[in-house]
Amino acid sequence: MSKDNLKSRPLTAQDLGLNNKPEPQKQNDTKATQPPARAANTNQRPNQSSNQQRPGQGGGRNNQQGNRGNNQGRPGGNRNNNRGGGGNNRRRFDKGPTKFAVGSFNQNTPVSKPTAQVSMSKIDAGKLKIVPLGGLGQIGKNLMALEYEDDIIIMDMGFTFPGEDQPGIDLIVPDITYLEERKHKIRGIFITHAHEDHVGGIPFLLPKIPAPIYAAQFTVKFIERKLEEYHLDFKPELHIVDQDKHDKIQLGVFTVEFIRITHSIPDACALAITTPIGKIVNTGDWRFEEQPLDGKESDKTRLKELGDEGVMLLMCDSTNCEQPGRTPSETEIIETLDEIMVRNYNKRVIISCFGSQVTRMQIIVNAVAKAHRKLVVVGRSMLNNLELSVKLGYIKIPPGLIIKAQDMKSYEDSELAVITTGSQGEEFSALQRMGTGEHRDVKLKEGDVIVLSSSIIPGNEKSVWGMVDNLFRWGSYVYQSATRQIDDLGIFHISGHANVDEVKEMIELVRPKYYLPIHGELHHMKHNAKIALDMGFDPKNVFVVENGQTIELDKEGAKLGKKVKSGEVLIDGAGIGDVQEIVLKDRMAMSSDGVFMIVTTIDKKTGKLVTSPDIISRGFIYVKDNAEILNNSRKIVKNIVDTKTPGLPANSPVFKARIRDEVSNYLYKITKRNPIVLPVVIEV
Ligand SMILES: [Zn+2]
Ligand SMILES: [Zn+2]
Repeated sequence: MSKDNLKSRPLTAQDLGLNNKPEPQKQNDTKATQPPARAANTNQRPNQSSNQQRPGQGGGRNNQQGNRGNNQGRPGGNRNNNRGGGGNNRRRFDKGPTKFAVGSFNQNTPVSKPTAQVSMSKIDAGKLKIVPLGGLGQIGKNLMALEYEDDIIIMDMGFTFPGEDQPGIDLIVPDITYLEERKHKIRGIFITHAHEDHVGGIPFLLPKIPAPIYAAQFTVKFIERKLEEYHLDFKPELHIVDQDKHDKIQLGVFTVEFIRITHSIPDACALAITTPIGKIVNTGDWRFEEQPLDGKESDKTRLKELGDEGVMLLMCDSTNCEQPGRTPSETEIIETLDEIMVRNYNKRVIISCFGSQVTRMQIIVNAVAKAHRKLVVVGRSMLNNLELSVKLGYIKIPPGLIIKAQDMKSYEDSELAVITTGSQGEEFSALQRMGTGEHRDVKLKEGDVIVLSSSIIPGNEKSVWGMVDNLFRWGSYVYQSATRQIDDLGIFHISGHANVDEVKEMIELVRPKYYLPIHGELHHMKHNAKIALDMGFDPKNVFVVENGQTIELDKEGAKLGKKVKSGEVLIDGAGIGDVQEIVLKDRMAMSSDGVFMIVTTIDKKTGKLVTSPDIISRGFIYVKDNAEILNNSRKIVKNIVDTKTPGLPANSPVFKARIRDEVSNYLYKITKRNPIVLPVVIEV
């Protein structure tokens, strides 16, 4: 990503709750995670009758329905009648702006005007708009909206990790200005699975566009726990959907069905959305695992049925569309792990994998149990995910297998295994700290065996190899994908995303009229499109678009629509969108060229220097070896003080700017570097 792409967005008044006072939220009177009753008649919303009599609810709803009445006669216009059966507890979110708990925002950030609500124009009647706001043209921060007249639904709400040109930024979420301007239309949010690039944005974005969230069980539980950490000051409405019962959720003109699909986390789902224009299928992240460890295969039967019923458009994961053939089975990793356990029967084995790959954790647990070892779990995200998965029954652990890290000393090395995160050399991960000798519980020693059950994510090569070297320094041996042939071992890792032949099979099952590659950088999406084109798709029916480029479908067909605002919102610590580009530039300058601080003490009466200016340099030059640069800088400051306009206060910005500019120019001339020059002027 180039620096020019950096975008940040000032907060809106709504973010801060400044434009009007929020009404007190009524306590939710049903359990938030109660599964919606399956709608037998798909024209009905899930049964929420216990909420029907909520005070103050009727007025807002009638207004909305009144507006809708004007649009009678267009396709789908009779849907008001269809909505009668359900309560509408989504409305409680519309009563006022919800905001983060106090302290989440940087109050100094400029406040822009509240976003205006945008209503449907006549031109949009009868049109279905596909609005990608994240995940197209990049891997990460997935967010896609479907809009039909007065209804919008959202699919996924992820975040992405920052690039090297965004120091100090924790996360990036999609810019959702488009949705904020239409938040009165948003009916619901559908989440395909619990990976962070699909759920990670929820704590930051949901308060801006509150709407009920629908997902399969594991995903809902994961989101629930995540939201607890963020202490939102309203209770999000979460609904568990049973994908195996083909639960259908009707919201506005949309009916959404969840379909089981295999990925690398439990309960991953594809979505089939019935719209007035036709059916849309979104694969979510997927691959066809033929013999999944949990026995829960992709629901190809339902996908084929949908194909028989007729699908207008298929949006399909592009991540692995540059890999020929099919993905191997996850079970092949079992052989690799077993072999390592046997070869190193008398040594302690430490295995790392992604904390998000729940299926992989089960494989590791099984391998450890089979080798009659005890297992120590290290790393917070690993512990959290393992705990949740065990509680919900997605991972089975034999009793007595897991022991505490402190108890390791009571066992022989041959009886021990450790599971941990940090396979990408992440800065503060457990494995990284083991490498540097800073881990509290696991001290590496001669003979330890370390297994990275992962592949190196492009861009992480340097940190991974740096960590691997650190691990080797303790006399440990490191097994990993990159060197598996030297070690004569099988595979260590399988991606959770479909290869070319699986994508072909998906297209054959669903047989859509239009094809839209999603979830990929442009080159991934281009290669995904090529699969469809090679299968005989009309090039006019295959769309490769990036974030912000909408696609419009109506009875006539599909075409590119308007470009809408999209981009990145940077999240720094607890704040959202409060990091301006200038701050990022400062951070980059400091990290690459350092800081040069000049403390000038001036006599208030005479206007002369009291002492020679003090210079503090960090990350720029080594002071002791550069006396000349320091002396010349002092001379420059002295000259500025001597030639200062009489009467100009020493603390004036003009005076400080002169010091900064002249010293910066001098330093650049000598060193060709641009440290941040900070003039500090003290009058005594
Ligand atoms: Zn993903
Ligand atoms: Zn995923």
